[in-house]
Amino acid sequence: VFPASVVPLAPEDPLFGLMAAYRADDFKEKVDLGIGAYRDDDAKPWVLPVVKRAQEILRNDPALNHEYLPIAGLAPFTSAAARLILGSDSPALKEGRTTSIQTISGTGAVHLGGLFLSKFYPRPASQPVYFSNPTWANHNQIFSNVHLPIKTYPYFSPSTRGLDFDGMISALESAPEGSIILLHACAHNPTGVDPTREQWKEIAKVVRARNHFPFFDCAYQGFASGDLGNDAWAVRYFISEGFELCIAQSFAKNFGLYGQRAGCFHFVTSPSADARETVKRIASQLAILQRSEISNPPAYGARIASLILNDEKLFAEWEDNLRTMSGRIIDMRRALRGKLEEMGTPGSWKHITEQIGMFSFTGLSEKQVAKIREDAHVYMTKNGRISMAGLNTHNIDYFAKAVDKVVR
Ligand code: PLP
Repeated sequence: VFPASVVPLAPEDPLFGLMAAYRADDFKEKVDLGIGAYRDDDAKPWVLPVVKRAQEILRNDPALNHEYLPIAGLAPFTSAAARLILGSDSPALKEGRTTSIQTISGTGAVHLGGLFLSKFYPRPASQPVYFSNPTWANHNQIFSNVHLPIKTYPYFSPSTRGLDFDGMISALESAPEGSIILLHACAHNPTGVDPTREQWKEIAKVVRARNHFPFFDCAYQGFASGDLGNDAWAVRYFISEGFELCIAQSFAKNFGLYGQRAGCFHFVTSPSADARETVKRIASQLAILQRSEISNPPAYGARIASLILNDEKLFAEWEDNLRTMSGRIIDMRRALRGKLEEMGTPGSWKHITEQIGMFSFTGLSEKQVAKIREDAHVYMTKNGRISMAGLNTHNIDYFAKAVDKVVR
């Protein structure tokens, strides 16, 4: 028999633990800056108006049923997802050098990609996958689960609260040739720090020179700058340079479809005479892996996203909704920096507006994070990361004052 009593207690997921502590707190002015989900100016979840419209269309579709989707998912969804990230005029799409498979949101895409690479990427067993330091905490767990060793490259500079570009470049230069390099396509989580276009070009040069394999994690397209093309720039640049790469794409944040788990994994080969054959073989292997893991992906969120992505008018409305979300977050960045500077809060707060996307690495120490929670009932992860979406016109003064107090 299985001696079930040998199973040790796993540590609590730090983020979900934080959420539980927030919920249990009955202080009226408590502030939740932990959760990575968009909130409106009243701190409420926001169902995008365009998503409501798509739901209405689905509700009235007499042909809709609950049959299984194909193993690779809803074809109009995956092809539109590929056009969205690669650009509809992408040479890779025109040349048939891509394959796309629907996944359980971005997490599932990262996992499927990791599993695929662990099986097929030719590398010495000890050769690690490289992540930014820091990265989304789940990257570590996902890649450990598929038995790929992990190393990190420097990314965040605590002194500038910006990119440690030199550290990143030299680590990529000294990584063993042909390493898998995980890159955040935009709105880096947890730091909010993205390379500039010039820096991306330098990163691409090193990746090329060292024959590394780029794995893009794209969880915030359109959510970062409000411009879908702008947020996909790095991925498209690498493809225009002829790289072979893969992409994990999430529709959780940009459609507000968190719980519906709509996502996609894309593999793009470099230009070659047999590229079409190569992606066909890759697609066949991805389908086998998918079959054993989830059989078929979930339908509802993909149907909603597909309706919007494939209809010009709905698409335009979606872009408008994206600008609402990203615009509110950018406004909150400006307001927070403005208030801290106005109060003369010690230190520089430039980074608040220079960082982008859902998160900001405030630079608050672990001690300060504990103190602000104790004194002001403000909840954030202990690395000093705040979700900008948790700030709004009603709590920003309160939060700025709490920060001011804790850093003095
Ligand atoms: N990758 C990064 C960097 C993220 O920040 C997230 C979400 O927080 C994801 C992937 C995946 O999220 P989901 O599985 O909800 O799409």
